[in-house]
Amino acid sequence: MPKERFALIIGAGVAGTSVAERLAARGWRISIIDEADRPGQGASGNRAGVFRPLPSLDDNRLARITRAGFLHGLRHLAQLAERGHPVRWEATGVLHLARDAKQETKMRAVVDAHRPPANYLRFVDREEAGKLADWPVELGGWWFPGGGWIQPPSLCASNLAAGGKQISTHFRQHLARLERVAGDWIALAADGTEIARAPVAILANGVGIRALPQAAPLPVRPARGQVSHLPATSGSAPRIVVCRLGYVSPEVDGIRCAGATFIADDDGSELREEEHRENLTKLDFILPGYAAAFDPATLGGRVGFRPASPDRLPMVGAVPAVDRAERTTPLADIPRHPGLYAVSGFGARGLVWASLMGELLACQLNDAPLPLEQDLVDAVDPARYLLKPPRPDRGGDE
Ligand SMILES: Cc1cc2nc3c(=O)[nH]c(=O)nc-3n(C[C@H](O)[C@H](O)[C@H](O)COP(=O)(O)OP(=O)(O)OC[C@H]3O[C@@H](n4cnc5c(N)ncnc54)[C@H](O)[C@@H]3O)c2cc1C
Repeated sequence: MPKERFALIIGAGVAGTSVAERLAARGWRISIIDEADRPGQGASGNRAGVFRPLPSLDDNRLARITRAGFLHGLRHLAQLAERGHPVRWEATGVLHLARDAKQETKMRAVVDAHRPPANYLRFVDREEAGKLADWPVELGGWWFPGGGWIQPPSLCASNLAAGGKQISTHFRQHLARLERVAGDWIALAADGTEIARAPVAILANGVGIRALPQAAPLPVRPARGQVSHLPATSGSAPRIVVCRLGYVSPEVDGIRCAGATFIADDDGSELREEEHRENLTKLDFILPGYAAAFDPATLGGRVGFRPASPDRLPMVGAVPAVDRAERTTPLADIPRHPGLYAVSGFGARGLVWASLMGELLACQLNDAPLPLEQDLVDAVDPARYLLKPPRPDRGGDE
């Protein structure tokens, strides 16, 4: 436990605001710094993102952590609403269609093997899937009745509001450097001006983390993504989220989100017609014939940069102070920067990770019982990459 329960958090996206809310709930004071003028303007700035878990036949780590993250996230959304800070979201249900007949068989096998509660996950055949989507589809798949869409900037704003006076915000402030002086981390602007200081600093600045030398051992890669905004009338189909390699949301404020592209190491922030075209191709794969009504030359949209990790799991915990370690070193023996933590690598699934990862780091900082089993805590430890070579990222599937 640090000398004083006071933390700097760099980044006011879903990662930073989730930790801020969890720490504030435990009595911590927080200074949160973001170069944008309000929360949720980076990768967390989309109008609607998909919120659901990702099961697997062998119930692998991704399946276990997304299940825990989804269930924790549902409780977090309910608690924010109970405390008077409702998030803009809707449990419309998420329909995840099989991409081919082989995958459809596997998806059915997952449900048969795990027999999850029907309000968590059900297998639906093609006919039922078409009825749920209110559009003819090619195959069946998974139906998550409790899943839906979340508006990420509203989640960020609600997290900060729930933290109340415990959280002070420093918007329009670009962190250029972090320095450790006399037991404090000092956040400095480019001209050397001090923005804030505290004994604990938490790096939740998305793809911006790569610019900080202390975070050099973390293999975060930017993955450009473009969402297409489709004009939509209220009540039009689909009124649920439908996924099949890409996703399409229900209508929200006259717009339906369809996406998204995933291009690693591309810094271009402009909207691209060819990426709208790619999104419309995905849309037609999800709902055959649906995309014909849209012209890629005239669509609006939004570009963001996902902080992607090589193994598609987040990075949450103390930042390693070395960039190399013997493969057999226990994670607990890897030296860490004192008081420096990361909540990063959310990649294509920030919405399912955010609240659980905020809670995990808050528990670690308070020496409280952890909300995940130890093997899963180790699976998200930012130092894990020192012990194994990073695998190439296979792309996005939000
Ligand atoms: C096109 C697209 C579609 C997506 N769809 C989904 C989806 O359907 N479901 C889902 O779960 N996830 C989805 N994601 C992923 C999800 O949005 C991200 O995982 C999540 O937003 C990452 O949150 P973050 O807080 O880590 O990063 P960010 O939201 O990027 O937050 C980082 C913040 O740090 C600030 N910052 C950075 N550097 C500095 C600095 N030096 N000084 C001050 N401030 C700084 C930035 O301004 C930013 O506000 C999508 C992402 C994209 C791009």
